[in-house]
Amino acid sequence: MIATHLVVPADIAVSWNDIAGLDDVIQELRESVVLPVRHRDLFNQSKLWQAPKGVLLHGPPGCGKTLIAKATAKEAGMRFINLDVAILTDKWYGESQKLASAVFSLAIKIQPCIIFIDEIDSFLRSRNSNDHEATAMMKTQFMMLWDGLNTNSNSTVIVMGATNRPKDLDKAIIRRMPAQFHIGLPTEVQRLQILKLILETECVHNDVDFNRLAKLTNGFSGSDLREMCRNASVYRMRLFMRSNDNQFSGFSAQSAEPSTSANAAVEL
Ligand code: ATP
Repeated sequence: MIATHLVVPADIAVSWNDIAGLDDVIQELRESVVLPVRHRDLFNQSKLWQAPKGVLLHGPPGCGKTLIAKATAKEAGMRFINLDVAILTDKWYGESQKLASAVFSLAIKIQPCIIFIDEIDSFLRSRNSNDHEATAMMKTQFMMLWDGLNTNSNSTVIVMGATNRPKDLDKAIIRRMPAQFHIGLPTEVQRLQILKLILETECVHNDVDFNRLAKLTNGFSGSDLREMCRNASVYRMRLFMRSNDNQFSGFSAQSAEPSTSANAAVEL
């Protein structure tokens, strides 16, 4: 298997509806990626408006970069190759270059397709003299394959990278990613939207003050908020099971220990 995951649009489990608080990013991706891919015939009439061959999503961990990449593929009806950089960067794995070329060939064959590279900086960071020879060759070859997409304006393959450290990226890579989006820690308003989305289908007590929760969770990422809600629900379940101890004697309370952040929420 050359890439870790290949997913067809129908199997991508997330869509724009699963993302809260990032309406601006979604709108820009809709215009720059989804529409040109969905309406290729129309957009092919203009050389000025084509889907970019490279998109960079940058920002702190857990703020929705992977979520956005997958949802973009889903909305645009694109296949999604989640490329494991560890395979390409393992210098002892002599097949890396063949693999890179196979990934691009596959993407072109099954296009429209997004090649998603999480932590792209770990693979395509600034080149320096300490680079292992195989790594340096790998980077050069990867860029050549990528440039091949640019010379073929009919191809609908997009390399989408995500990173927490955009400054570490090679400048040549940055140039190949004309569409760049910062996905930062959510503001209070965004946290409120994320919390509402996460808890939309849950049974939440009327006393829960969403506005207060959003205010108190300054510095939390979307992922932290989700974990907090998950822990709060497990905590609630644990209390319930404790009060019915005999019935649930096999339940392990340790595994349900809420984290510090969850405690902050459930003790409100
Ligand atoms: P990393 O840099 O660690 O790879 P990431 O930025 O790619 O993180 P995701 O993996 O996309 O973050 O997000 C983790 C989880 O957090 C998501 O699966 C989702 O449950 C939740 N989440 C994050 N941001 C949002 C958001 N804006 N709306 C809804 N859920 C979110």
